[in-house]
Amino acid sequence: MNPVDPKAPYDDSNIFARILRGELPCTKVYEDEWAFAFHDIAPVAEIHVLVVPKGKYVSWDDFSVHAPAEEIAGFVRAVGRIAREMDLVEPGYRIINNIGPNGGQIVPHLHVHLLGGRVMGPMLDRNWQPA
Ligand code: 5GP
Repeated sequence: MNPVDPKAPYDDSNIFARILRGELPCTKVYEDEWAFAFHDIAPVAEIHVLVVPKGKYVSWDDFSVHAPAEEIAGFVRAVGRIAREMDLVEPGYRIINNIGPNGGQIVPHLHVHLLGGRVMGPMLDRNWQPA
């Protein structure tokens, strides 16, 4: 899949939009007024859950500019609640949001990766050197 343009208009045919509409299957773990969460199809940790807002936002950039405060709060609280309900707080976990080409975003509907159940290691490659 092509990298996402984080400033492109929202595309209603994206995979997560279709999951939200029930057109594609998923293994759901949580749903409330603001957020929907399901297992990643290609997990990279024991627990790899994707949390998406129900609203139509391409990226964190789009969301942070256009979403009402109530929706931002609802989404952020849902991410924290899912982690608590999955007993991830005490052992620790990682949340990742990829934005655009450099971030590695593939699906153009905002999603937070919630990763747990293993030691994640360093955040990024510590051997990176400036060009
Ligand atoms: P991104 O690179 O955009 O941050 O992450 C997209 C994530 O969506 C990837 O981890 C990928 O495995 C996951 N994914 C892609 N297609 C599907 C799908 O159809 N169902 C589910 N559950 N996850 C998907």
